[in-house]
Amino acid sequence: METMEKLANETKQLARLQAVELERTRLTAALKALPGELAAADAQLKTARKRVSDAEASLKREELLRASLELEIAGLRSKATRHRDQLNSARNSAQANALEHEISFAETEVSRLEDRELTSMEDTERLEAERAKAIELATRLAETTALIRARIGEQDLEFREQLAALKVERETLRTELVPWEDGAKLAHFDRIASMRGTGLARADGQQCSGCRMGIRPQVWNQLRDGAIVSCESCSRILYYDPAMAPAPAKSPIAVQADLGGSSIKRKQAGV
Ligand SMILES: [Zn+2]
Repeated sequence: METMEKLANETKQLARLQAVELERTRLTAALKALPGELAAADAQLKTARKRVSDAEASLKREELLRASLELEIAGLRSKATRHRDQLNSARNSAQANALEHEISFAETEVSRLEDRELTSMEDTERLEAERAKAIELATRLAETTALIRARIGEQDLEFREQLAALKVERETLRTELVPWEDGAKLAHFDRIASMRGTGLARADGQQCSGCRMGIRPQVWNQLRDGAIVSCESCSRILYYDPAMAPAPAKSPIAVQADLGGSSIKRKQAGV
């Protein structure tokens, strides 16, 4: 009887050790993923800010373009005026024709440049709308990124604290489990866990819950007698939990509660 109780206790400790290891793996991965999450948000914000600065640069270019067009138009207009004045004092028809040609050229050019100016005004309107949209997006993303940064900071701390607590618990459990068969069981558990992710599996319905392979009747009986044996297929350490065994006279509600797996969670939590 004493041996059986000892075995049950060691199974509980090993199950808890496994839960601790799995939680450490999960938390370590979650911790590693945090900077990437922030980097993704930062990259989106950077893109939005680039859209704002691109729109602003384009707006500036259009402004400079219109200023230079205005200058050019003013120059052409004063040239046309000058030619018109000269036309009044033209000495012959050839000179008058040449001046009229110059005037007509200047007027055509002015109208072309004014059209270009109109296009630039339209572009400016479009760019202003684009800038407004980009600013709105960048503002929203800046808020989101700040929230993500704060949340990640908190999670980082939280995960590290949880990992530190799990590390202590892991060391305690391992220290307690070392004397078990002179460390052979723990070494076996470690070896299978490093290969398969878990080193311990519950025997359930004559099956190994780790690899789903059937358990021979003889081994199944040993397990039910409280022995701890390894799965012949995956080598995980098997244990039998009587609390998880389906009882024939159960009400449907009790069966449902068992399907919820609450008792194994309690067991893994060591409660
Ligand atoms: Zn197995």
